[in-house]
Amino acid sequence: MNLHLDEISVKQVRGVSALKEGELHAFGIFTVKDLLEYYPYRYEDYRLRSLSDVKSGDKITIQAKVIGTPVMQRYGGKSRLSCKMMAEERMFTATWFNRQFLRDQLIAGREIILNGKWEQQRMQLTVSDSEFPDQGVKRGGTLQPVYSIGANITQTWIRKIIAQALVQYGDMIPEILPHDILQKYKMLPRKQAISIIHLPEDTKEGQQGRQRMVYEELFLFQLKMQAYRAVTRGRMDGIVHTVQNAVVREFVRSLPFELTDAQKKVELEILHDMRATYCMNRLLQGDVGSGKTIIAAIALYTTVRSGLQGALMVPTEILAEQHLRSLVRLFEPFGISVGLLTGSVTGRKRKDLLASLQMGMIDVVVGTHALIQDEVFFRDLGLVVTDEQHRFGVNQRSVLRRKGYNPDVLTMTATPIPRTLAITAFGDMDVSTITERPKGRIPITTYWVKHSLMDRVLGFISKEVDQGRQAYLICPLIEESEKIDVQNVIDLHIQMQQAFPTYRVGILHGRMTPAEKEEIMQAFNNNEVHLLVSTTVVEVGVDVPNATLMIIMDADRFGLSQLHQLRGRVGRGAHASFCILIADPKSEVGQERMRVMTETDDGFEVSRRDLDLRGPGDFFGTKQSGLPEFRLADMVSDFAVLEQARDDVAVLVGDASFWTSSSYEPLRRYLQQEEVFQENLID
Ligand code: ADP
Ligand code: MG
Repeated sequence: MNLHLDEISVKQVRGVSALKEGELHAFGIFTVKDLLEYYPYRYEDYRLRSLSDVKSGDKITIQAKVIGTPVMQRYGGKSRLSCKMMAEERMFTATWFNRQFLRDQLIAGREIILNGKWEQQRMQLTVSDSEFPDQGVKRGGTLQPVYSIGANITQTWIRKIIAQALVQYGDMIPEILPHDILQKYKMLPRKQAISIIHLPEDTKEGQQGRQRMVYEELFLFQLKMQAYRAVTRGRMDGIVHTVQNAVVREFVRSLPFELTDAQKKVELEILHDMRATYCMNRLLQGDVGSGKTIIAAIALYTTVRSGLQGALMVPTEILAEQHLRSLVRLFEPFGISVGLLTGSVTGRKRKDLLASLQMGMIDVVVGTHALIQDEVFFRDLGLVVTDEQHRFGVNQRSVLRRKGYNPDVLTMTATPIPRTLAITAFGDMDVSTITERPKGRIPITTYWVKHSLMDRVLGFISKEVDQGRQAYLICPLIEESEKIDVQNVIDLHIQMQQAFPTYRVGILHGRMTPAEKEEIMQAFNNNEVHLLVSTTVVEVGVDVPNATLMIIMDADRFGLSQLHQLRGRVGRGAHASFCILIADPKSEVGQERMRVMTETDDGFEVSRRDLDLRGPGDFFGTKQSGLPEFRLADMVSDFAVLEQARDDVAVLVGDASFWTSSSYEPLRRYLQQEEVFQENLID
C-alpha cells in the first residue's frame, strides 16, 4: 500500500457519488486526507441524562419507556404527536411535530431514546431526534460532531461519510511526527487522534485528540518556516559584504551619540548576516524612538563601503525627505552620495537620478514606491532596507529585492509585534529587537480628557509654547472621505489661529503638494511654526525633538498602534513631553483603549493589550499581515504550544540527520509539497 491519502480521491469513499464529490470540492475537500482533516468545530451532546438533574430549557437526551397510546392532532397541514413516557419512575409527555410516521412505532413498553428540549413546568419534552434501542443506537450516549458545512450537504450526511472514511482508510493514516516527540509528550498516535476528534467517547477524549492535532499543526507550520530559513541560509549565493570592521567603527564613532547596548546588539546581528554567504532576511523591530534609523544607516554605510549600492524604501514622501536629510548629514563627511526618488521627482531631475543610479554614481537612494517602478535600475544593489514594514505589501518588497542579485534585506517596523505574531507571521525571518530607548529620555505622560475640557487643553498648549516648545494637534480621522478630513483640518486650523493670535499656527494634510508639505515641515523643524494642525500624515517617522505636546482630537477614532505612533512624535528630545487624547468613547472597549494609552508608553505593552482587545485576526489589516490560517490552533490560547513546537522544530532542523534519515521522510515530503525547496526567493 504505497498510496498516500492525499492521492486518493474523496470519491473512493463509499457513499460519495460524482455529484456529491463536486459539492465537497466547494468546501476544499478533494482527497481522503482533506476529508479526514475536516474537523468538527463542536460536538452535540447526546449523552444520556437523568431527569432529576436537568433544568427547564435544556437540550437533553434521555432513555425512556413508552407507556401510553400516542395521540395525534392535525392543524393546517401540520401534525403534532404526543405520547406518555416514563423515565426513572417519572412520567412526562414527549411531543413531536410532523413525525406522524412514528405513531405506529410508539408501542407501550418499548424502549426509546429521546433528544430534545425539556420543559419542567409541563413535564414535557419537545423531541427533535429519537431512536429505538431495539433497532440499534447510533447517536444516543455519544457526542456527535458538528461540521462547518452547508449548501446541499447535511450534518447527517457528512457525519456518515467521515465515519465511513475512517472505516475504509483509518488504518492508512500515516504517523508524521518524529518518534521521540510522540514519546516526550506521550502523544496519541495520529490515527487515533484523528479518529477521536471526529468520534470522541467524551469531551475529554475529543480534547485529547484536538490537543495532539493542534501541536502537529503548529509543528508543521514552524517546520515550514524554519526549514525555509535553513534552506535559504544553506544557499551560498547571497552577497558577501567585505567591509573591514575598522571602517564601520569609524562611521559609528562619527555619530553625535553613543549607541545604546540594544543598538549595538542588533548592529552585530545585522553585520554578521551581511558578511555571510546567505541572503539576509531580517526584521528589525523597535518601539518608536528607539533609534532604528541609525541602524539602517550603519547597514547602508556597510554596503556602500563594500562597493555596492543601498536602497531605503519608506511609505511617505515626508518620511523620504526626512531620511534623505539625515542620511546626507551622516554620509557627507564620508563622500557617500545620496539620492531621492519619489513621485514628485520629475522631468530632468528624475532622468539624471535614474541614470546615475544605473551607472553607480549614486550610492544610496531613498524613496517611496517610486523605487519599485520598472524604469529603476541599479548598477549593483547590495542592500534593501524598508521602513515601516507593515505599510508595504510583501510583493512590493520582493520587487525591490529583485532589482539586484540576491541583495540582503532588512525590514524595519515601528509597530512592535507581540511575540505571538512575531513567531507566526515572521517565522521565516530572523528578528532583531531594539529593547531599550536611548538614555535620558523622559517618559511621555499621557492624559485622556473629555471634549468639555478643551479650554484647559488650550491653556496647556500656551504653557508649553511659552516655554519655547512646540505642539502637534491631530485632527479626527474620517476614513471614508479625505475631503472631509481636509475640511476638518482647515476648520481646526482657523479655530487655533483665533485662539492663539500671537503664535504661528501651521497646517499639514494630504491634499497639499509635496513642496508645500516640505516647506511646512521645514518651518516646524526650525521652530518657525509653534503649533502644527495636521492629519495623520505626521504619523510615521517624523522627528522634531523640540515638539513636546501631541494632542489628538477624537482619539477614539484611531487604532491603538496608530495612537502610539502619533504619540511617538514627541518625547524625542531632552524635555518632558505630553500626549493628550481628547475623546468621549461610548463603548467599554473604547474607554479601555484610552486607558491603555494612559497606563503605558511601552509600544510592546500597547500592542499586547491591543491584541487582547481585538484578537489576532484583526491585529494588522489581515491581508498584508501574512498571518496563517490554522484549522484547529488558536494563536492566542495555544500560544504555549506554539512556543513548544518552535523549540522542538529548532532542535530537529538543527540536526543533520533530519535531512537524510528515512524516519523523517513524511516531514520532508510535507516540505516538498509546501514548495520549501523551490528555487524561489524569500518573498
Ligand atoms: P525610530 O526610527 O526607531 O523611531 P529614530 O531612529 O528616529 O527612532 O531615533 C529617534 C531619535 O533618537 C533620533 O533623533 C535619533 O537621532 C536619536 N537617537 C538614536 N539613537 C540614539 C542614541 N543611541 N543615543 C541618543 N540618541 C539617539
Ligand atoms: Mg523611524
